Amino acid sequence: TAPTAEGVLAGLDDDQRAAVTAPAGPLCILAGAGTGKTRAITHRIAHRVLTGEVRPQHVLAVTFTARAAGEMRDRLRALGAGGVQARTFHAAAMRQLRFFAPRLLGGRELPEVLTSKARLINQAAAAARVRAESALRRDLATEIEWAKSSLVEPAEYPVAAARAGRDTPVAPDSMVRVYQAYEQAKQDAGVIDFEDLLRFTVWAIEEHPDVADQVRAQYRHFVVDEYQDVNPVQQRLLAAWLGGRDDLTVVGDASQTIYSFTGASADHLIGFPRRYPGATVVRLTRDYRSTPQVVALANQIIGQARGAQARLRLQLTGQRKPGPAPTIRSFPDETAEAAAVAARCAELVAGGTPSSEIAVLFRTNAQSAAYEDALTDANVPYQVQGSARFFDRPEVRQAMVALRAATRAVEPGTPLRVAIVDALAATGWSADSPPPGGAGRERWEALAALVRLVADFRPPPGEDGGEPTAADALTAFHAELTRRAAAQHAPAVDGVTLASLHAAKGLEWDAVFLVGLVEGTLPVGFARTDDQIEEERRLLYVGITRAREQLWLSWPQARADGGRPRRPSRFLPASTAGAVPSAGVARPERPAAARRRRGTLVLCRICGATLSEATDRKLGRCSDCPSDLDPELYDRLVSWRADVAAQQRIPAYVVFTD
Ligand code: ATP
Ligand code: MG
Repeated sequence: TAPTAEGVLAGLDDDQRAAVTAPAGPLCILAGAGTGKTRAITHRIAHRVLTGEVRPQHVLAVTFTARAAGEMRDRLRALGAGGVQARTFHAAAMRQLRFFAPRLLGGRELPEVLTSKARLINQAAAAARVRAESALRRDLATEIEWAKSSLVEPAEYPVAAARAGRDTPVAPDSMVRVYQAYEQAKQDAGVIDFEDLLRFTVWAIEEHPDVADQVRAQYRHFVVDEYQDVNPVQQRLLAAWLGGRDDLTVVGDASQTIYSFTGASADHLIGFPRRYPGATVVRLTRDYRSTPQVVALANQIIGQARGAQARLRLQLTGQRKPGPAPTIRSFPDETAEAAAVAARCAELVAGGTPSSEIAVLFRTNAQSAAYEDALTDANVPYQVQGSARFFDRPEVRQAMVALRAATRAVEPGTPLRVAIVDALAATGWSADSPPPGGAGRERWEALAALVRLVADFRPPPGEDGGEPTAADALTAFHAELTRRAAAQHAPAVDGVTLASLHAAKGLEWDAVFLVGLVEGTLPVGFARTDDQIEEERRLLYVGITRAREQLWLSWPQARADGGRPRRPSRFLPASTAGAVPSAGVARPERPAAARRRRGTLVLCRICGATLSEATDRKLGRCSDCPSDLDPELYDRLVSWRADVAAQQRIPAYVVFTD
């Protein structure tokens, strides 16, 4: 059945519906994680398209990651609003610059965009005579990113950095020299960086009325997801696109601001109703994503936030039925932690959870390797988010070449899927034999994802209006892939997602593993100021709220190479600190004391279930749960749980001690 405007309103609650049907003009949706912000804006666009209020090609929707943009496009197409531009700021800017580059650059094409600043930062540091080890180089790169995203020119850096309270990696005047040398090195190499993409687009629109007219005639309705993380140059670009018009929808959650180190600020979100006094403001508080246990833990973690954003905290109420309590576990070291996570992933997959519904999230990319190894050993497919972009992968490029060649060689009458699978024989790919984990498996999964696209692909009819020929179908499929490649619209690749917490925002999985939760990693070692620490707390909040059902938090007690013991992250509930190995020692039972003190709630100290049977209450645990837990830890655990979970009368989480 064809999608209808009425249909688009079904499956939304009243608040979401208010957002979807709000009149044209400024609209701001302020809401916590998992409350359906992204769903609401997607449905709003579709609703406006289907009622004929707006034309899809006039809408520009900006999201934060390429994956989120791809998901939004898929969603819009399914809702009957294909053709809407849903992109990241960078992809949208790139597309516009590419189009206007010949006009702006005297016939030249847009220069290549740097994917990593590292090499040029090295050169710049040398030229500026700043000695830079690798950690410092990263700080220099971050600082330049901050300055450029904040529209701060090299000469303005010292004043601007002081005003923003930046913890400058080198003395401000040295920073000026590095920044200048970096810009010079970039120019000499004939390349531009990601920040330039945005800055040049701003320049193109602000300084060229003909460009401005054309861009503004094309885009008339704007939507920005994850608006809490917009930085000054993005904000300026948005203003340039709008050109004084106000058909703008923004959505965000101040508690999920995790990019302020690069100049992002929730102030734009918070100040929106003041900037547009006539704006419609909608608040959503019902969480549809996660079980109440996950929601309780998320509320607990963000409930301890300090500083300005704490005021804006939105308590979530879970809408889903209870699921398993989240668990907090510790392991002797990271290798053991990774092996346990991989084993649990294998179990989930064996139990029917698709691997693509599982994610392992970490604070720093360096943590990925241990999990890649462990998942390989456990023969679980995985994909590393943010590694080579899908269409840049060598095997995908090779497949495109093979498919192109096959358009000339395909036997008439060959079904499309068969033709594609045959053509991929040129890459050594075989449909039925995924290699065990690791890089080979990743390559296999990428090609499998290409083949899966056939299922949703409808080639245009042949000349006589009937079935297209095999060659035409293959040519059309190749054209579809080329279109997707240009739009960076990668298909979903199967496998457990390994991603940084930053890359995970906006996304969700049935099962989420948050790993390496120790001091020095989360919060990361270089987080020093209070603001930086608060940002780390929000990162954990973002991580927790990615889980629909199963949430596992874990931390290693020591580094793999021995060394000093590690402490669990300060953001974890206080009882976790006591979660040291306690195996083998018989513990006295103390449930009665705990019950007296807390009054009402007795929870199984092992699995966290509320105990209703008198015998279980006396025992302090379900009769089939194991029985050794440190008594002091037990008391703290019970009292903490009672505090957070009493409202919903559910266990918030379980700490494992061995
Ligand atoms: P985040 O802050 O993490 O970006 P969000 O507010 O954008 O979260 P969505 O991703 O839009 O939330 O929605 C979270 C999940 O809840 C999705 O799976 C979505 O389909 C589902 N959902 C949202 N609203 C409803 C609803 N009214 N009924 C059922 N499911 C819903
Ligand atoms: Mg969202």
